[in-house]
Amino acid sequence: MPDAVHRLSLLESIIGAVNLGAIVLDETGRIVLWNQWMSRHSAWSADAVLGRDFFEVFPELQHKRIDSAIRQALRDNFQSLLSQTLHKAPFALYTHGAAAIENAAQERMQQAIAVTPINLSDSPRHCLIQINDVTIAVGREKLLREQTMVLRSQTFSDGLTGIANRRHFDVAIEREMRRAMRNSSPLSLLMIDIDHFKDYNDHYGHQQGDGCLIQVAAELAAMLQRPTDLLARYGGEEFAAILPDSDAAQALQMAEAMRQRVAELRIPHEKTGNDLKHITVSIGVATQHTHLPHQPLDIAALIGGADRALYLAKRSGRNRVTVQTT
Ligand code: GH3
Ligand code: MG
Ligand code: MG
Repeated sequence: MPDAVHRLSLLESIIGAVNLGAIVLDETGRIVLWNQWMSRHSAWSADAVLGRDFFEVFPELQHKRIDSAIRQALRDNFQSLLSQTLHKAPFALYTHGAAAIENAAQERMQQAIAVTPINLSDSPRHCLIQINDVTIAVGREKLLREQTMVLRSQTFSDGLTGIANRRHFDVAIEREMRRAMRNSSPLSLLMIDIDHFKDYNDHYGHQQGDGCLIQVAAELAAMLQRPTDLLARYGGEEFAAILPDSDAAQALQMAEAMRQRVAELRIPHEKTGNDLKHITVSIGVATQHTHLPHQPLDIAALIGGADRALYLAKRSGRNRVTVQTT
């Protein structure tokens, strides 16, 4: 019947033209359809594979997820979707065609695969394997994930100095406080404030003020040795250093070293109103000793202690370290 013949050739043209891979297996697992898309993107032409056993052509897919998907389709009339995140590129397919297979640099196409039973009225069940090229989508997703990572890291670091920002400080102090309680270890906090910085800005300009902040931050950050130590920009020209596992004496030693290091930079500051004509810092030190059982988590007390100590350092002349007294 010419009508049926016409419909069949129309169907064949459509299957050849669709923009996805189509393979049909008969009930014994032999390949009975291999569309042009498959020939274009693999090393196999239809002539080379038609009539052959699927796993003879693709021995590397035996015992893989697609193997059980094919069996489930043929035997149990069950459809499977193989997500690309779990089953990376099972077929040796290449977006830019078979020629590119020679080129080792060319990566396999990322694939989303559906295995569907095909029920026919006059012959045993067949199975259709559809393959979609999701390389672009996967690449875009990877890019988005990377950008998210960059953004996330940016939201935890200070835009000017590159050290941890206030948000990072808040998260870190909470985490370190819990750790200190768990391990019954001390936790120290330094509050570091640049002296007469308003006058520095007024005299040298805001841009040079920024440069001074960057230099001081880098210098202080370089002094912290342990991976759990953290220097953060707490406010405008104020920094905070979290020192886990440091008792009051160790914290005082670090604070004094920091004060000296900044003074040694000899960043000129004509308008200090005193004899020192360079940038200095004042530092307040507080320590939480957690050897007492059932002592409550008290971040506010630790920050408050360091703040009060800093205030005392300012009041007693600046360019000095003061330890919290309780
Ligand atoms: P003190 O010795 O008591 O700390 O005096 P101070 O002048 O340093 O303190 P004050 O808090 O009065 O002034 C802080 C100054 O820090 C005011 C502000 O202009 C400056 N500042 C804060 N953030 C920035 C910043 O991002 N860049 C610059 N250039 N200046 C900043
Ligand atoms: Mg200041
Ligand atoms: Mg200040």
